Amino acid sequence: MPELPEVETVRRTLNELVAGKRIQSVTVRLPRIIQRPAEPEQFAAALAGHTIETVERRGKFLRIMLDGLVLVSHLRMEGRYGVFPSDEPIELHTHVIFHFDDGTDLRYKDVRQFGTMHLFKRGEELELPPLNKLGIEPLESEFTLEALRGKLEKRTTRIKPLLLNQEHIVGLGNIYVDEALFQARIHPERTPDTLKPAEWKRLYEAIRSTLAHAVDAGGSSIKSYVNGQGEMGMFQHQLLVYGRKDEPCPACAKPIEKFTVGGRGTHICSKCQPPAGSK
Ligand SMILES: [Zn+2]
Repeated sequence: MPELPEVETVRRTLNELVAGKRIQSVTVRLPRIIQRPAEPEQFAAALAGHTIETVERRGKFLRIMLDGLVLVSHLRMEGRYGVFPSDEPIELHTHVIFHFDDGTDLRYKDVRQFGTMHLFKRGEELELPPLNKLGIEPLESEFTLEALRGKLEKRTTRIKPLLLNQEHIVGLGNIYVDEALFQARIHPERTPDTLKPAEWKRLYEAIRSTLAHAVDAGGSSIKSYVNGQGEMGMFQHQLLVYGRKDEPCPACAKPIEKFTVGGRGTHICSKCQPPAGSK
């Protein structure tokens, strides 16, 4: 599942590849990818003749900004975009093709078929699902220590699922929540109402720095073919706890433990992140 840094990397790359291109026509080969409007023919007809201005992001959604329209695209598990010469053979699992008037295509490929596309008039997209309930953008100036505490500090449920909930903070997935909680030295099953001021500060700084480093790492690889996961996986070499079960903790050398929180595989150092009540 791509998280904010991966989607941000896709956004940057896609922006380089398609900004300024004019869509001549659209081929929808798998109607279920298109969530709005209801009919794929309407989707294709609405986009014809429009020019892509920029590619932006809201949470884990791409916002492809056109003159007068916005295409909101979620890659879900395995969605990926690629730009190809239009005479190049179409790969298997290619579901939507945007034909540009310069002889190239933007092709959307998705083996799992979970990805979604919603088309809106400009401005309308933030008022309606799927973007209307999204929480704070953690890399924007609106994400402050006060905003983080304001969202969460009265909660009495476990911190990890709260951080994964996109209605509070967007873009954090399983990997970066584990990394941020480790850096902040907070056990994922602690509840926000028990966190001390110093812990809030550490958590805030850990979320920011974890995501910013990941964006920097991913952002340095610009390719003609982009996806939401593996392709730019440079950051995974810098992960401190995620995927490192039984390896020594980088801070204290105690082996990293793995267990389940809210159905999600969770990695911690139990010495650096003591559970509630053990301090
Ligand atoms: Zn440790």
